[in-house]
Amino acid sequence: MKKISKVLIANRGEIALRIIRACKELEITSVVVFSEADVDGVWVRKADECYPIMGNPVQAYLDFEPILSIAKKAGCDAIHPGYGFLSESAEFATACLENDIIFIGPKAEHIELFGDKMASKVAMKKIGVPVLEGTDTPVVDKAEGEGIANEIGFPVIIKAAFGGGGRGMRIVKKAKEFSKMFDEATNESLKYFGKTEVFIEKYVENPRHIEVQVIADSYGNVVHLGERDCSIQRRHQKVIEIAPSPLLSDTVRKEIYRVSTKAMFRLGYESVGTVEFLVDEDDNIYFIEMNTRVQVEHPVTEVITGVDLIQRMIEIAGGDKLHFLQEEIKFRGYAIEFRINSEDPQNNFMPSGGTITNYLTPGGPGVRIDSSLYEGYELPTNYDSMMGKLIVSALDWEGAVKKAKRALDEYNIDGVKTNISLHREIVRDADFKAGKFNTGFLGEKMDTFN
Ligand code: ADP
Repeated sequence: MKKISKVLIANRGEIALRIIRACKELEITSVVVFSEADVDGVWVRKADECYPIMGNPVQAYLDFEPILSIAKKAGCDAIHPGYGFLSESAEFATACLENDIIFIGPKAEHIELFGDKMASKVAMKKIGVPVLEGTDTPVVDKAEGEGIANEIGFPVIIKAAFGGGGRGMRIVKKAKEFSKMFDEATNESLKYFGKTEVFIEKYVENPRHIEVQVIADSYGNVVHLGERDCSIQRRHQKVIEIAPSPLLSDTVRKEIYRVSTKAMFRLGYESVGTVEFLVDEDDNIYFIEMNTRVQVEHPVTEVITGVDLIQRMIEIAGGDKLHFLQEEIKFRGYAIEFRINSEDPQNNFMPSGGTITNYLTPGGPGVRIDSSLYEGYELPTNYDSMMGKLIVSALDWEGAVKKAKRALDEYNIDGVKTNISLHREIVRDADFKAGKFNTGFLGEKMDTFN
């Protein structure tokens, strides 16, 4: 008998729907918990069972006790955490284990290791993965930090040690800016992550953000599913993700695959994960962090490989072996994902709430939409502004860009402000069309877009 036959999804929005769909295809019963703000969530209706959690709408997805108690009462044998919320909580993974519930994700020890960016750099360096020069213990004293920055040489970047989502990060171009930036980084880190620990590393000018999708089972089988290029970012947050990366040399590609799989094998990693690198203008690679969960951008990898990452993740957690070898993974064409956010591009991307009054989605060949929107839906304002994702694919890069243009033009959402207009500008940009971009792309071009 299968170990997993009923899964509780400790998440919301498009990813909850994505996991429900994976469960249905695996003939697994899906259970969701939902907050007071999410009563009208489409995923709540699509799940086989749903249970409310009263009180603060954010805490509803963060407090272990109610979630574990519902999982037990409902007879769930596993919990899928999605991304965000409890997905990177080693404590939660351990609590699941203690309650005899399978945590669909990596082992707690790996969540903990990679939750600490400094510790993970040290561990990866030991295995032979290149990392950027920087501190490997937290910097608390500003003067000490400045001394270290001088040794590394400006520009440097100050980063929240336990941060994410581009927050708690400051670039310091010159020594005289250090003090102010240090204060800003520590304050932001405290505000968002409850911790003031920061670290300092060399800042790479105009890098590309390239990440490797890995998947590993509990029998030591590690396979990579290629890379994603996430260089199109706004304030260090991903806006568009692409698989594979256009214009990446095969030498770099092979090297990031090699070091990523080697590291995962050495560490005994299990489940899906993403090894993130910066690639500089001379094609040097540097590991920056690893995400121990399914990522927002996983669909582009699914599209070019045909591998259902969520389903395989559930199977691995249930003790199954990976049923494909590295050689069996074939990459086909290009996929581009556009994050559809409820924000106002005309007003500094301020989050925007409201009721969806008109909702027309693109369709046709090569179009996938992962979203929980529908006409009449009142968007709760308690959560992240990402409402869904548009994923397009074609056999070549040029075709994928053309399809993106067509699909974005078809997409119509009224009632809330969205960033679709920004995406439409990007896919018309000559450098984007040529596949030429790095993490500085949006910052440089934003003013020229309407
Ligand atoms: P987070 O966990 O907040 O997403 P990351 O460490 O993954 O933070 O970095 C997010 C982005 O910030 C990167 O994709 C890159 O654009 C930029 N960045 C991070 N570290 C550096 C660095 N050392 N040099 C240049 N850019 C960096």
